[in-house]
Amino acid sequence: MSANARQLAVLFVGAHPDDETIMAAGTLAMLRQHGVRIHLLCATDGRGGESGGVPGINSPADLARVRECELRCVADALEVDSLTLLGYEDPVMGPNEKLFGFAADDDRLARQIADVIDETNVAVVLGHGSDGEYGHPAHVQMHRATLRAIQEHAPDVLFYSGAALLPDGEDRLWNRHDPAHVALDITPWIETKHAAMLCHRTQHALFMRRRKLSDVRDAIRVTESFHRHWPAAPGSPPDDLFTAWLLDAGAWRPAETPRS
Ligand SMILES: [Zn+2]
Repeated sequence: MSANARQLAVLFVGAHPDDETIMAAGTLAMLRQHGVRIHLLCATDGRGGESGGVPGINSPADLARVRECELRCVADALEVDSLTLLGYEDPVMGPNEKLFGFAADDDRLARQIADVIDETNVAVVLGHGSDGEYGHPAHVQMHRATLRAIQEHAPDVLFYSGAALLPDGEDRLWNRHDPAHVALDITPWIETKHAAMLCHRTQHALFMRRRKLSDVRDAIRVTESFHRHWPAAPGSPPDDLFTAWLLDAGAWRPAETPRS
């Protein structure tokens, strides 16, 4: 299938409920406003995270149920066309906040992602970076599975990861080995990103603790940045549909316009 036959549509492929919001909610809101169809895929049920003091959560299974509701709230806020939950069990955090990947057969996971790309017929996939942002093993696992799904089953699809490294990126959440090819100030769409962030009630305490904040909305990053993994773009900045969409919305190419 040629890229021209694919839909003006984007699929965000995340490991956990909330990755879509942190990494791309502003960009997805912008694209939605311009008539691009939006699809979400979440691999795990998020039961390994924190309950954040939300009442009524007494077990990992309770947390999984609540986090599914939170993700459905985000799907409404972003007006997405579909939400796919693969339902892998998210392993509970170990001592000292040690994080884990999830139990999945690599072939099956790549095939499941490829099936959703096939069903949604998207031209662009967004997802995790090669460093799992801050090294989260489940994010790295999803980066590899997504790349493999595209290389093996849908090589005409563009694959960009979020949280791409900006020249002035000091935040611990950047993918150190994925320099930003395109970056967007999402301020015009920040109300939608706020709404998505507010859906993830169980995660608010964590977001605020990490950044020592008193309002979860202040945890929102106003610059969303992306690195193209497929087709690989060594050297020259990519010139494709996704970058064109973002440039039209006011994005810049960090490699060309370094910010001091
Ligand atoms: Zn995550």
